[in-house]
Amino acid sequence: MKVLVINAGSSSIKFELYAMPQEQVLASGLVERIGESTSRLVWRDARDGRHTLERPIQDHAAGLELVLSLLCSGTDAPMESLDEIGAVGHRVVHGGEAFSQTVGVTAEVEAAIQAHAVLAPLHNPPNLLGIRVARQVLPDVPQVAVFDTAFHQTLPPHAYLYALPAELYREHRVRRYGFHGISHRFVAGRAAALLGRPLEQLRLISCHLGNGASICAIEAGRSVDTSMGMTPLEGLVMGTRCGDLDPAIPLYLQRQLGMDAAEVDRLLNKRSGMLGLSGRSNDLRELEQAAESGDADAAVAMQVYCYRIRKYIGAYTAALGSVDALVFTAGVGENSDVVRAAVLEGLAPMGYALDLDANRGLRGREADISAVDSRARVLVIPTDEELLIARDTYALAGHRAS
Ligand code: AMP
Repeated sequence: MKVLVINAGSSSIKFELYAMPQEQVLASGLVERIGESTSRLVWRDARDGRHTLERPIQDHAAGLELVLSLLCSGTDAPMESLDEIGAVGHRVVHGGEAFSQTVGVTAEVEAAIQAHAVLAPLHNPPNLLGIRVARQVLPDVPQVAVFDTAFHQTLPPHAYLYALPAELYREHRVRRYGFHGISHRFVAGRAAALLGRPLEQLRLISCHLGNGASICAIEAGRSVDTSMGMTPLEGLVMGTRCGDLDPAIPLYLQRQLGMDAAEVDRLLNKRSGMLGLSGRSNDLRELEQAAESGDADAAVAMQVYCYRIRKYIGAYTAALGSVDALVFTAGVGENSDVVRAAVLEGLAPMGYALDLDANRGLRGREADISAVDSRARVLVIPTDEELLIARDTYALAGHRAS
């Protein structure tokens, strides 16, 4: 059976078509700039051939229809007809406390996704739009929602509560939710496979370092703490997001600098992080090169970035008591030997000793980069969130379709 995975953004649809249970990617791509005159569809076929189609795409429905028509047309098409699609899996960012696992989409599920839009105003509305459009275009196909927050619903209260008046949690659900759960869950599973041990016996720290970044403490396959909070702004330094901050700073910006809430929001989410610190870019690769060529601001930005990750590794080592493996994943974690080495420098007494030769130049593939005498294994594991969504979708809807 074929499973279509969709990640709908405000002006984009990312998609991947899988043959399941073989887990073979038949096609993948992106519709972008939906609603603009410069919209386009970029996609890759199973043989890695790249295609681009530039044309105005009015809305998400038109975008998905275009994707589906391409998937069924031409001699190399991965499908003969849309009837081959047995289920559609959607990435949904915020499920709040309502969802601790993947679910089939019903009217109640849609209503809950809508209700959580207040917590993820940029993500949940387009995610929901993706679900509605897919149902419109493929009315008889089961739709499945896979939540970024669900994996972290196992956090204990001492990890998810903020020290605010208790009614803010009780009445308004102000708490830590955590994100990147699909990625942390995926790499935890791979780490167990690589170590050849059951996940239930492992204590792991997963560092998802991409343009967005978060770190997660995982015990027996369950998330027990994570650095992102009620929103994805808390925690590590990110491309354009500040991460941890004295909560009085936004008040200072409003009272002393006369910014309004929208300006502060934009400053913290879009103008801070590595972009803000370096004054140059949010792109880690560019900043690494700039730091190497003597750009002092880029160098300091890299130090702040790596130091924050080190602090969290220390904190989560304490939270877990002992750690079997530390995992680096996502764009920076998978590709930057410089960041990995800087983060772990001097941490051998804590149990994280790097094999510098194994680390050097390692990009985008699974590897154990720990020194033989390292107490914890240090692993690089490319994440694959789409594959996990496809697996969950198949597990939930596969039997219905076959
Ligand atoms: P992601 O959000 O997971 O796609 O990660 C994007 C980030 O990964 C960007 O900041 C990229 O600059 C960074 N990245 C990708 N490749 C490398 C690399 N070879 N070295 C350093 N950073 C990289």
